[in-house]
Amino acid sequence: MPWTQNKGLYILILTLREKAFIPVGKLGIIPFPSGTYCYIGRAKRHLRQRLARHSMKSKPTRWHIDYLLPHVEIQAVILLPLSSATECTLAKQLVKMGGKPHPLHFGASDCRCTGHLIYFAQEATPHLDLLAITMGNTVGFLRNHTEGHKKTLVEEG
Ligand SMILES: [Zn+2]
Repeated sequence: MPWTQNKGLYILILTLREKAFIPVGKLGIIPFPSGTYCYIGRAKRHLRQRLARHSMKSKPTRWHIDYLLPHVEIQAVILLPLSSATECTLAKQLVKMGGKPHPLHFGASDCRCTGHLIYFAQEATPHLDLLAITMGNTVGFLRNHTEGHKKTLVEEG
């Protein structure tokens, strides 16, 4: 169980409401169309702390995802055990579902794949449940609560 073992793969489901030009470190200023973005990450340890860091509003920029997160809302997090896949294979699965790597090589400085951020235009966005079922082994969702920015994790077995 990724949550209890505090390690695992995760997919952040992110919504960008309006098109934005966002500087992403060495990738430069990137145009991000509005829609849904799925970011795939991996924590060999400290998974819970990593997710807590992702949901912090202000922090130093260290990874590509740090540049994007202030502009989006985290809709949900899908957790998967480390053994089930890699970031690269999950990214490929999302592309098969109609997503597109954008921008290329986002979050993928250490591998040779097309990137770990997959964009779905509004009309192509897969339903969250479908996405979770397709990924299998859904362990938990981190849901936005309406009161403030408080987020809670709901274990789903
Ligand atoms: Zn990769």
